[in-house]
Amino acid sequence: MDATIVLLPGDGIGPEIVSQARRVLDVVAQRFGHTFEMPEHAIGGNAIDAFGDPLPEATLTACRNSQAVLLGAVGGPQWDDPNAKTRPEVGLLRIRKELGLFANLRPTKTWDELLDASPLKREIIEGTDILFVRELTGGIYFGESGRRPHPSGEEAWNTMIYSTGEIERVVRVAAQAARKRRGKLTMVDKANVLESSRLWRQVSERLIKTEFPDLAYNVVLVDAMAMHLISKPREFDVVVTENLFGDILTDEASMLPGSLGLLPSASIGSSGPGLFEPIHGSAPDIAGKNVANPLATILAVAMLLRYSMSMNAEADAIEDVVSRVLKSGLRTKDIACSGASVSTTQMGDAVVKTLLG
Ligand code: NAD
Repeated sequence: MDATIVLLPGDGIGPEIVSQARRVLDVVAQRFGHTFEMPEHAIGGNAIDAFGDPLPEATLTACRNSQAVLLGAVGGPQWDDPNAKTRPEVGLLRIRKELGLFANLRPTKTWDELLDASPLKREIIEGTDILFVRELTGGIYFGESGRRPHPSGEEAWNTMIYSTGEIERVVRVAAQAARKRRGKLTMVDKANVLESSRLWRQVSERLIKTEFPDLAYNVVLVDAMAMHLISKPREFDVVVTENLFGDILTDEASMLPGSLGLLPSASIGSSGPGLFEPIHGSAPDIAGKNVANPLATILAVAMLLRYSMSMNAEADAIEDVVSRVLKSGLRTKDIACSGASVSTTQMGDAVVKTLLG
């Protein structure tokens, strides 16, 4: 297969980890007989510096014309000025909106080899394997907001707004994923307080009854879910929720496997290219030191091949190699606990060598 995969290295450790992912894609192409064009484009802080825009038109056009997009990370203290005209994160929000990426998929799985790297007890987290599906282009982050004078100074407001269609399409993505996994779907809301949650509950229940009656479906309030995640995470298979709740719950869940450096994510729409990235940020504290863990980005490549190109064998091969490399004892600094560690490029070397067989 011939495919164009746009690489957006971004800021901080982004270029270091994306270059390891490129090597992995080269090996996949070689081993499975594909041709991948992999043009690089600017996004985030470096794009502001070079073009005055965190998402230049050339980047957006290239992404639109591709099969899939792989992103490193954006942001850093040099672009944090609150009075600046624009910010790196604006590029990220815009690309999601422009490509219609309404569903964010975050697999959260513990690795047996790394159970002791988690701040939680081994007996609680062992065997955890959850797929979060977070609504990504609606809700309070995109609703009307504003400020107005108030006797005490000012008041400010944000609005959480969802339509039937927005809820249906993301719940459908989650339900389809649950069918391919263990057949369980949990919808998280705050229906005891919020009107938008009551619509989520109504629409979701109707959709599951009519289109997915075979699934084991339940609903959990978001405050209870925050507790269940750290007391009985094994009980969950696929979890679907709206944007704000998903943002918070997925970060909480990222602590279960113990390292940000191992968690990939995918953002997909109903058609067109998906966007694949590690869940961590640009880690400015370690940028340029060749110590960042490239595995989350490499696992994002596996998701990219699986979800955007239906290359399941290629994705399985990458995930299997990552598991074998971890089993062999190789660790970057973030997951080494107090033991010896390897560099970003050494970890990339090990993955590439194992993948080549
Ligand atoms: P971060 O995820 O960048 O870093 C948090 C901590 O985890 C740091 O100590 C960092 O060194 C470590 N870390 C992160 N990724 C690692 C890796 N692959 N290997 C080893 N260690 C790793 O979060 P932050 O420090 O809150 O944010 C830094 C910048 O990243 C900010 O500008 C923020 O806005 C941005 N950010 C971007 C994204 C994105 O591009 N999707 C996501 C989150 C944060």
